[in-house]
Amino acid sequence: MQSTASLGEILSSGQRSFSFELFPPKTDEGERTLWQTVREIEALRPTFVSVTYGAGGSTQDRTVRITGEIARETTLTPVAHLTCVGASRDELRGVIGQYAAEGVSTMLALRGDPPTGLNTEWRPHPGGLQHAVDLVGLIRSLGTFSVGVAAFPEGHPESTDLDQDARVLAMKQDAGAEFAITQLFFDVADYERLVEQAAAHGCTMPIVPGIMPVTNVSQILRFTELSGAAFPADLAARFDAVADDPEAVTRLGVEVAATMCRRLLSGGAPGLHFYTLNRSRSTIEVYEALGLGAPTT
Ligand SMILES: Cc1cc2nc3c(=O)[nH]c(=O)nc-3n(C[C@H](O)[C@H](O)[C@H](O)COP(=O)(O)OP(=O)(O)OC[C@H]3O[C@@H](n4cnc5c(N)ncnc54)[C@H](O)[C@@H]3O)c2cc1C
Repeated sequence: MQSTASLGEILSSGQRSFSFELFPPKTDEGERTLWQTVREIEALRPTFVSVTYGAGGSTQDRTVRITGEIARETTLTPVAHLTCVGASRDELRGVIGQYAAEGVSTMLALRGDPPTGLNTEWRPHPGGLQHAVDLVGLIRSLGTFSVGVAAFPEGHPESTDLDQDARVLAMKQDAGAEFAITQLFFDVADYERLVEQAAAHGCTMPIVPGIMPVTNVSQILRFTELSGAAFPADLAARFDAVADDPEAVTRLGVEVAATMCRRLLSGGAPGLHFYTLNRSRSTIEVYEALGLGAPTT
C-alpha cells in the first residue's frame, strides 16, 4: 500500500529512505528487463523509485506511460524526473498534467543538459525555463506535487565554485523543493561538505546520496565523465587489479558501495538512492550486505 504522506514529508520525518533510479528503455526488450527489475525491486519495499526523463516525442510518451503503470500497477511510489530541455512553459505544463492524470504526484525538477552537447552553453527554449529552480516553482504552482531536485557533491560542471551549488540548493528549497538527490559520487567527504555548506545557506531539506555500485569499469568511467564526477585513482587501481574477472569486479563493486553506504548512514544521511541502470543484482547484494533485507521470493 502506498503511503498517503508526501515523499517530502516521509523524508523529513527522519525515516531512512531507500530508493532506486530506473530509466525508460527505448525497446520492447529493454522494457521487459525493466519490468523484471521493477518486480525484484518491489520485493525490497523501497521508499520510492525514480524514473529518468529524456526530451523528445516517443521517448517522452513511453516514459510517462511507464511511470503511470508503475504508479497504478505496482506498490511502488514513482518519482517522475522532468527537465526543461526543448520545451516551452506550456509544453511543460502539459507534461506535468499528463503525470498528474497518470496518478504520479512526486516529481524531480531538473534543468537537463544542453541538447547540443555537454561542454556547450545551455540555452533555454525561447518560451521555456532557464533553471531547475523555475521548474520547481512551475510544478508547485500546478497542484499538490511533492518536488525534489538534483544536488552535486563535487559541484555542477557549470558552477563557478562549490558554494554556488549549496546556494542554488537553498534557492530550490525556497521555491518549494522538499528533497534533493545527489549525482553519483565516490568520496563521502564530498557529500558531507555539500550538506554542511547547504545548511549554512539555510537549506535543511533532506539530501539523499546517489550511489552507483560499480559493475563494469569502462561503464563507470563513461558515467563519471558524463556527470563530471571523479572516479578516485585508488579505487580505479583496485578495480584495475581485477579487471579481467567480471565476477570479481561485481563483488568489489558491491563491497565498495556497501562500505560507502555504511559511512553515509552512520554519518546521518537521510537514506540511499541507488542508480540501478535497470539491473537489480548488485543493488540487491548491497542491500543484503547492509542487512536491509532481501526479496522473499
Ligand atoms: C539525481 C539526478 C537526476 C537526474 N535526472 C536526469 C534526467 O532524468 N534527465 C536528464 O536529462 N538529466 C538528468 N540529470 C542531469 C541534470 O539534468 C544535469 O546535471 C543538468 O546539467 C543540471 O540540472 P539541474 O537540475 O541541477 O540544473 P540547475 O539547478 O538549473 O543548475 C544548472 C547550473 O546552473 C546554476 N544555477 C542554477 N540556478 C541558478 C540561478 N538561479 N542563478 C544562477 N545560476 C544558477 C547551477 O549552479 C548549475 O551550475 C539528473 C541529475 C541528477 C543529479
